[in-house]
Amino acid sequence: MSQTTEQLQKSDIKDILEHSLNGQRPGPEDCMRLLESDDVHLMGLVSGYLTRKQFGKKASFVNNIILNYTNVCITDCKFCAFYRSPGSEEAYTLSLDQIESRIKTSSEMFNIRQVLIQGGHNPNLKIEYYEDAFKMIRQKFPEIGVHGLSTSEIDMIARVEKSSTKEILSRLKDAGLQSMPGAGAEILVDSVKDVISPKKISSDDWIRIMDEAHSLGLPSSATMMYGHVENNRDIVDHFYKLVKLQEKTNGFMAFIPWNFEPNNTLMQEEGIVDIGTGGIQLLKMIAISRLVFDGLIPHIQSSWLTNGIGMAQLALQYGADDFGGTLIGEEVVSCTGARSTELTDQKIIDAIHQIGYSVEERDNFYNPITLS
Ligand code: SF4
Repeated sequence: MSQTTEQLQKSDIKDILEHSLNGQRPGPEDCMRLLESDDVHLMGLVSGYLTRKQFGKKASFVNNIILNYTNVCITDCKFCAFYRSPGSEEAYTLSLDQIESRIKTSSEMFNIRQVLIQGGHNPNLKIEYYEDAFKMIRQKFPEIGVHGLSTSEIDMIARVEKSSTKEILSRLKDAGLQSMPGAGAEILVDSVKDVISPKKISSDDWIRIMDEAHSLGLPSSATMMYGHVENNRDIVDHFYKLVKLQEKTNGFMAFIPWNFEPNNTLMQEEGIVDIGTGGIQLLKMIAISRLVFDGLIPHIQSSWLTNGIGMAQLALQYGADDFGGTLIGEEVVSCTGARSTELTDQKIIDAIHQIGYSVEERDNFYNPITLS
C-alpha cells in the first residue's frame, strides 16, 4: 500500500479513502465528492484493495442464459431498443415449449446454473404463463436457478391480475421463482424517470416491491443504469436509497452498475444522449460502488456486456468481485449494437486467469461450484 499511501497524501478525496480503509462507509456528501473527483485510479486502488482483502485474488461467474420471453411492451421507455408494441409484426412471445427447449439446449450445451428471465410489459400475459414456466423449469431442471422478473414486470402482472404486487410475488415464489434481477431501477429519482421512462413504476414503487420480495425470502440484485440525463446528486440519491433498503432487509446479493447505450433508442433519436459514457466512468462507478456498499451488499459485478472483456478485467481490479454471467441469448442490449461479444465460460475463465486471479464458478445464490 506504499504507492497508495503516497498518492493518498496528495488527493482531495484523501479523507474519504482513508475512512474507507478504516472500515468507515462514505456518507452521501462523501459520495458526491467521489463522483466529482477525477482521482479514479486512486479510488480504484483503495476499492481494489478492499475487494482483495475480502475475496483474495479470485473472481466468480455464473453459467447462465437470458430468456427474454417477450418483446411486447406498453411502457415505451425512451432508452429501450428492444421492445415492440402489441400487434407489431416483430412482436414475439415464447411459448412454454419454446422456453423448455431453449433451457434444455443450453443446459446440455453449456451446463447453465441460472436462467435470467426478463421481458417487456406484455398486457396479454396472465400470471399462469409465469407460474407454468417457473414450475416447469424447477421440476425439469432442478440444478438451474430461476432468477427472474424486474419489479416493473411484477407491477404489470399485478395490474393484469388486479391483485397486489405482494400477492403476485408470493404466488410466483410458490411456483419456483428464486431471486430477482434489479432491472427497472435505472436511476431511482422520479425527475429522471419522468424523462427516460415516464410510464414505468416510480422509484418508491421499485423500492416497495423489492422490500416485499426480500420480506418474502426472495433475494435480488440491485442495478443502476447511468450515463443519460441524471446528475451526480441523482446518483448519490440512488446509492443511498439502496443502502437504506439493504440496512432494513439485507436482501440484495449484488450490485451491477450499467452504462446506458444510446444506439437505436428514442433518446438518441431525440438528441437527448448521443454517445455512451465509456470505460473510465465505468471504473469510477465500480470503485464508488465498492466503497459505498463494502460490507453491506456482498458482490459487485463487472458489467462486461456493454464494456467488453478488457474493461471487465479492469473492473475486477477496481472493486468488482464477480464477472457476471455468460448471458447466452441476451437480446435487449444486443438491440443497441453494444453487446461486446458472445461469451462462453471458457472465455471468462481465460480472462480471469489472464489477470492472475483464480476462478470460481458459482450458482444463482453466489455459492461456489468449482474453483480453478
Ligand atoms: S425497458 Fe422494459 S419496460 Fe421499458 S420499453 Fe423496454 S421492455 Fe418495456
